[in-house]
Amino acid sequence: MNDLTCVIIGGGYAGLQALKAIKEKSRGIANGRRIRFVLIDKQPGHLRKLRMFRPTAVEEEIMIPWNRLALKDFEFVQGEVASVDSGEQRLRYTDVQGNDARIRYDLLVVAVGSIVRRPDPDQGGIALTDPQAAAGIREHWRANLRKAADETNPEERKRLMTIAVAGAGISGIETSAELALAMRKEATVLGLNPSDASVYLLNAQERLLPEVSEKFRRKLDQQLIECGVTVLHNCKALREESGAMMLSNGDCLAVSLCIWTLGLIPNPDLRGMGLPLTPDGKVLVDECYRVQGMSNVYSIGDCTRIVDPRDGRATQMTCFEAGEQGVRLGKIVMADLEGIPAPSHHSAKSNMDAFTIALGQKGVFWIRTWGLDMVMSGKIPGRIKKLVEDTASMLR
Ligand SMILES: Cc1cc2nc3c(=O)[nH]c(=O)nc-3n(C[C@H](O)[C@H](O)[C@H](O)COP(=O)(O)OP(=O)(O)OC[C@H]3O[C@@H](n4cnc5c(N)ncnc54)[C@H](O)[C@@H]3O)c2cc1C
Repeated sequence: MNDLTCVIIGGGYAGLQALKAIKEKSRGIANGRRIRFVLIDKQPGHLRKLRMFRPTAVEEEIMIPWNRLALKDFEFVQGEVASVDSGEQRLRYTDVQGNDARIRYDLLVVAVGSIVRRPDPDQGGIALTDPQAAAGIREHWRANLRKAADETNPEERKRLMTIAVAGAGISGIETSAELALAMRKEATVLGLNPSDASVYLLNAQERLLPEVSEKFRRKLDQQLIECGVTVLHNCKALREESGAMMLSNGDCLAVSLCIWTLGLIPNPDLRGMGLPLTPDGKVLVDECYRVQGMSNVYSIGDCTRIVDPRDGRATQMTCFEAGEQGVRLGKIVMADLEGIPAPSHHSAKSNMDAFTIALGQKGVFWIRTWGLDMVMSGKIPGRIKKLVEDTASMLR
């Protein structure tokens, strides 16, 4: 009998977890047919998005070649998928040489994720969108600190040692802490006063992370201050121009760099793929991640609109939820292949909230479940975060 081809589009956190789960659940066989696994991704390796803040501060490789993952026994095709033809069970993609190519599938998992929202070009600054942007940020602030070391005007020296991070989600929080610590270290090496190195985190909301407990927020605020980050609440960044950051309250900050961390939007590639989408561009699926109106096609992760049937809440774009969906998809695919009822989506978040935020080598960990509201800070949460990141990226 012919092999069954299972194609996964996108080797982010959701796609990798789905690949692992379907392989493990099926043990490579379905209804007596061997399953051939093909991962297709436009990038030459898995991008560790959770560590995007790291190369803003230090040189660190966050794109991991596919053959270095702990996950084995799959074929990798580098290509950018353009469309899915569910009638013919084929997808069309552009390979690395720029050629138009096609792959046939029996089972398809769409996990093309999201992209980072960009500011308008006239808003200035650098958006933390990818590893190249992160490296550009690092070069920028390091060059500015070298200039500061030769600067005799104290006001200009202070400006050269000041950065604004606009957008105070997890990415903005982790980036600002990492930068403040790295800048202080570098300032000391250059003979500058480390406490002159300032990072402003601009938060458009009244407080950080509206979904967390007050206890956790207080701890996080305190840890950020210790790192050298000043959080400005109710403060929206408008634009950066000639060393001045214009704010919505009419104030203006003298900065040498503005970094935008404005959150995520669904992958715009989806618009041309021929999949059913919500008005904001996410794939429409049922409670078992089956794409509406298409047989043997599933979609999970940031690119998908997934609703918990118990409370009608839509999932958020997080690595945690992407991984959870990947694990469940293994069971769903097997159940569908065997023709038995499949488990439906339910978010673990409805029983439990948990956050781990990296602040340099340290971190803050929070869990709220069954009446408990527990916060821990220091090196252990920093290690937990790293472990979670490594596991999600299939490095162990
Ligand atoms: C800077 C930053 C920090 C973050 N921090 C956190 C955090 O601390 N905690 C947390 O829970 N979440 C965090 N997130 C969100 C988290 O990274 C996402 O929720 C997660 O990456 C979603 O996984 P995914 O697999 O659905 O999509 P992605 O990780 O976006 O993966 C999509 C994959 O599809 C590939 N792809 C895209 N288009 C195509 C195409 N047309 N053809 C072929 N391949 C394609 C991409 O190359 C990529 O490999 C952060 C995100 C960013 C950007």
